[in-house]
Amino acid sequence: MTIVFAASEMVPFCKTGGLADVLGALPPVLAGLGHDVHVILPGYGSIDRERFGFIGEDMARELPLGAETRPMTASSATWRGVSVHLVENRYLFDREGLYGGIAGDYPDNAARFIFFSRGVVEVIRALGIEPDIIHIHDWQAALVAPLVRLTCAGEPAFDNASVLFTIHNLGYQGNFGPEVFDLTGLPPEAFTWTTMEFWGRVSFLKGGIVYADAISTVSATYAEEITGETLGFGLHDVLAERRRDLHGIVNGIDTSLWDPATDSAIPARYSAEDLSGKAACREALLRTCGLAAKPTVPVIGIVTRLDDQKGLDIIEEAVGRLVPLDIRLVILGTGTKKHHEAMDLLKSRYPDTIQVMLRYDDGMARLIYSGADMFLMPSRYEPCGLGQFIAMRYGTLPIVRRTGGLADTVTDITADPRNGTGFSFGDYSAEALIGAMTRAVTLFRGKGGTAWTAAVQRAMRADFSWDSSARLYAGLYTSITGRNRTGR
Ligand code: ADP
Repeated sequence: MTIVFAASEMVPFCKTGGLADVLGALPPVLAGLGHDVHVILPGYGSIDRERFGFIGEDMARELPLGAETRPMTASSATWRGVSVHLVENRYLFDREGLYGGIAGDYPDNAARFIFFSRGVVEVIRALGIEPDIIHIHDWQAALVAPLVRLTCAGEPAFDNASVLFTIHNLGYQGNFGPEVFDLTGLPPEAFTWTTMEFWGRVSFLKGGIVYADAISTVSATYAEEITGETLGFGLHDVLAERRRDLHGIVNGIDTSLWDPATDSAIPARYSAEDLSGKAACREALLRTCGLAAKPTVPVIGIVTRLDDQKGLDIIEEAVGRLVPLDIRLVILGTGTKKHHEAMDLLKSRYPDTIQVMLRYDDGMARLIYSGADMFLMPSRYEPCGLGQFIAMRYGTLPIVRRTGGLADTVTDITADPRNGTGFSFGDYSAEALIGAMTRAVTLFRGKGGTAWTAAVQRAMRADFSWDSSARLYAGLYTSITGRNRTGR
């Protein structure tokens, strides 16, 4: 099969979040299964073209953006068996950040990602790629779906192409003022209430949902949740309408990058068979954080974007009642000012219990994943989540709210003592969080610690690699090939 991915980030070229990790892992695994795999990205200035050997393609276009046109070129490199192509335009993409700078989102993001989506179509045409599947991700690439469907009819390059649209987080929709529609080059039928119009605005995400041949999201539970009002962000009816074509496939992690047996960034290496190194990591974490704790005092880690999505309000509410459990809490994160201030306040109120580090720091994240005993992730909603996978792989039992991918990937130890790999709670409340924490602390302090150690080993041995999810995607591709609705 020929598979073309279009997305706005990919490890190791450009990253702001989990989307980049998915793009860095899934395409190479599919290439390894024998597929012809391409990835098309915006040509951000920050991508190191020399290091990865990008070479300019023999193509130059003037892409219309409303009344103006902008020049486009492309360059390509091969990385882990995948052909990676950049849609190049220095004015639009040679900037400090991918989507914005300190002043906020770039005001011309609509134009930037319309240009990118049109560039994706041009790259497929110019390079003579004949995709069976065009797999597009999130709002930044969503317009590829209506563009292929409404503007590429009859072209051999797109004859067999079915479009799969994957939503990584419904909270980010790419909604812009109605004037933006003129930049898309799409026919007027694409801007009605049954197509891309969303309360008078243009919704890129809705365009992907309406025009793709199939839709997926990153866990089965989240796929179900987004068809309901609570987590549907206003698009639940549109998604429910397409329920038959909506699939949930859970992400994996790159198990070679996240492995306590080989991780050179942590103080000592360890495995499920020999856990002794984990104690050294715990010591180092406590020392670095300026905290003291006897072995019976559990260390709880949090590594997260400091965003409302992540359940910070119930953590803040619960902390006063968690302190008497005699725990240590280490928090690493960056995000909104409101949460930075709230976290600083917690630290100043409970200096012997809590350490807070307000920054993005991969090394510190690894120290927390390896050195903590438990990992807290009480998300309000969570499409898939990666933190819980990494924590389990490092033998740090997750305490999670039972939503989205967290519900699908963490088995509660109290409910299922033989297979459990963590603790989960249902209600979004401080009480429910405290209840789960209390169960975790009780087991941690339990007689001889054998049940705890057994759960740690189970969590570490669970399979979170991309292999099984990549096969599920390949199966989904096969099931939707030939479903192309271009021009029909
Ligand atoms: P989301 O994509 O919603 O932010 P995920 O759990 O899917 O949440 O992925 C978050 C990833 O980013 C994890 O790998 C986590 O370790 C990492 N991460 C989040 N915040 C930080 C931070 N402050 N420092 C280092 N790594 C972080």
